[in-house]
Amino acid sequence: MKDYNPFSGSGKWYKGNLHSHSTVSDGTYSPEELKEVYKRHGYSFLALSDHRIFYAHKSLNDSSFLIYPSMEGNMTAPGEMSGCGGYRAYHMQVLYAPNLAADHPLCEGERIEAPLKTTWDHYYASAQTYIDSMRSRGNLVTINHPIWSRLTYADLAALNGYFAMEIYNSECALDGMDAGEGTVLWDLLLREGKKIWGIATDDCHNRDKPDGKALEGSPRFSSCRGWVQVYATELSVSAIGQALSEGRFYSSTGPEISRFEVKDGTVFLSCSPVQKIELIAEPCRALGYSDLAAQLTEAVWKLDGRERYIRAQVTDASGRKAWTNPIFFV
Ligand SMILES: [Zn+2]
Ligand SMILES: [Zn+2]
Repeated sequence: MKDYNPFSGSGKWYKGNLHSHSTVSDGTYSPEELKEVYKRHGYSFLALSDHRIFYAHKSLNDSSFLIYPSMEGNMTAPGEMSGCGGYRAYHMQVLYAPNLAADHPLCEGERIEAPLKTTWDHYYASAQTYIDSMRSRGNLVTINHPIWSRLTYADLAALNGYFAMEIYNSECALDGMDAGEGTVLWDLLLREGKKIWGIATDDCHNRDKPDGKALEGSPRFSSCRGWVQVYATELSVSAIGQALSEGRFYSSTGPEISRFEVKDGTVFLSCSPVQKIELIAEPCRALGYSDLAAQLTEAVWKLDGRERYIRAQVTDASGRKAWTNPIFFV
């Protein structure tokens, strides 16, 4: 098995949120207010991904903070599913491409409508067309909150061209009816050979019922709960985008991961103190162990040699998690 370390070479960690909504669409905080919140919490970058509008917000960039140009392309329910409070939907994050210049004219304030169709079959075909269209512009596309969206394994297995899916979404974890985490669906896709990364995001709207603004500290304040830590050469759209596309990041709701490496047929994991460490592989089952004192900081695991991929997740004493991306062997 080849040695691999996604966090090797010269680079630094940059904390970011890849999914948020401001007053440009249906969020309650202005872009300026969101920048202030995230910067104060130690973030280096933020994707202001308002619905169907692609904005760079270049005036908010400074030497230590970057707005990562993006939008959320929503394709919402066919008519026959309306009225029951739930519906199948494709919501896709469109992230600025690493190979396009940051001042590309497509980047500032472009409204891109996702198609709406009346039957699921048409809808599905439109989703693939949409992904292909965004990729042809050079953008990276993710599948957002698949559990909340009521997407099935078959829906996601049939789609191609998305580079990542949300495995944690703060807004859905807060009020999405157990729709915040999607790791089981992720593993099912990985087991069948899909090579996709997993991302944790906020999807913050910060709404408080009925129409108010959720203040920091409120249980409905969904900012700063799920993030990615990207290992990149610098804080720029191209460097962050490159690292994202290569899976050189991990996702977290709390714990830190400093090492996840395969060397001489052995996996090495290092993290902040946690209660549980799990190594998830296919087809072998790898490793899971717990320590009630929550002082676990390392795992070492000799690979069988037949694994097709391995990933790790850790859980701290408060139930907060972090997830590495898979290392693929085939
Ligand atoms: Zn969404
Ligand atoms: Zn969203």
